[in-house]
Amino acid sequence: MSSERIRRFLAGQAPPTPFLVVDTALVTARVREFAAEFPHSRLCYAVKANPEPAVLRAVLAAGGGFDVAGPAEITACLAEGAAPESLSYGNPIKKAADIAFAFEHGVREFTTDAESDLRQIARHAPGSAVSVRMLVETPASATPFGRKFGCTPAEAVALLRLATDLGLTPGLAFHVGSQQPDPSAWDTGIATAAKVAAEAGIPLAHLNIGGGFGIRYRDPVPSLAEYAAVVRAALAAHFPTPPRLVLEPGRAVVAEAGLIRTEVVLVAWRGEHRWVYLDIGRYNGLAETENEAIPYRFEDGGGERGPVILAGPTCDGDDVLYQHTPCELPLALAPGDQLGILDAGAYTASYSSVAFNGIEPLRTYCLE
Ligand SMILES: *Cc1c(COP(=O)(O)O)cnc(C)c1O
Repeated sequence: MSSERIRRFLAGQAPPTPFLVVDTALVTARVREFAAEFPHSRLCYAVKANPEPAVLRAVLAAGGGFDVAGPAEITACLAEGAAPESLSYGNPIKKAADIAFAFEHGVREFTTDAESDLRQIARHAPGSAVSVRMLVETPASATPFGRKFGCTPAEAVALLRLATDLGLTPGLAFHVGSQQPDPSAWDTGIATAAKVAAEAGIPLAHLNIGGGFGIRYRDPVPSLAEYAAVVRAALAAHFPTPPRLVLEPGRAVVAEAGLIRTEVVLVAWRGEHRWVYLDIGRYNGLAETENEAIPYRFEDGGGERGPVILAGPTCDGDDVLYQHTPCELPLALAPGDQLGILDAGAYTASYSSVAFNGIEPLRTYCLE
């Protein structure tokens, strides 16, 4: 479950709820595990999952780099001592000024999926490495990207050639969707990359296989070793000479290192349903309960349990966490009781709104 250090923190002078507590030693351990399972690859932690300075330091301590989405994340990583060449600007949506900012600060690796962006990179970050992000048809993940990112393989061939003509170092990228439980998604992506590179007649300097590695919320997911085995087999099957891999995990690095502590605000029977309202909801940390995409596990005080509908504290009708996902909590649960939300280190605090209904963003305590 959660770490000994988190247990001790909770047993001591725990602060008012809601809050997130992160054991950064688990972050470092996880980055090391990635390095062991994916030797000869570069890991760029997706900062948006949890940008706490202590989390960034924990990634650095294990030799990790960073996938950054814009100037603020670049500044945050450099402030913690990251080398600019360990940053990869992975957001395909960027202003010219942001590319120039990145280049001025030493960033030399970018991801793109459209011609105009590629030309902007050539202009404002000349000579950089660029990964062309392809849209690959993969099994559904828990929180898919839909069709927002990635060009078709045919467009990728053209963009690889254009990148070369513009003096950039070309590579390819894909992202199989976040919380992807099916490792065959990476086989599809790697096969597509090999085909595109062969058709373009361009040897890939690198292949960015994104993030998306799942963690166990309620349902089991493959281990990192199982994901790695599929990736290794796909590289051997599809590439005569495998390119250098870049990985961009976010969730799988930080989710299991964090626990949220929340308090029950109200319990009410509405018809035959027991509604439980917490002091955390969609807008102050549990954004990923949208469409009930991520089914968090709860830790309670025990006793006989019964079904509940779980909701957040705000005056917004969408601030309901689970009404279709089965959820059981103690029958004796009452206002003031506290619950733990497990594996909550990723995409919680970073998604928290500034002041919706006057509620402050989710406070994070990092144990270093
Ligand atoms: C969000 C994001 C990631 C991280 O995805 P996870 O599912 O958290 O591993 C990696 N790369 C890019 C480009 C992203 O936008």
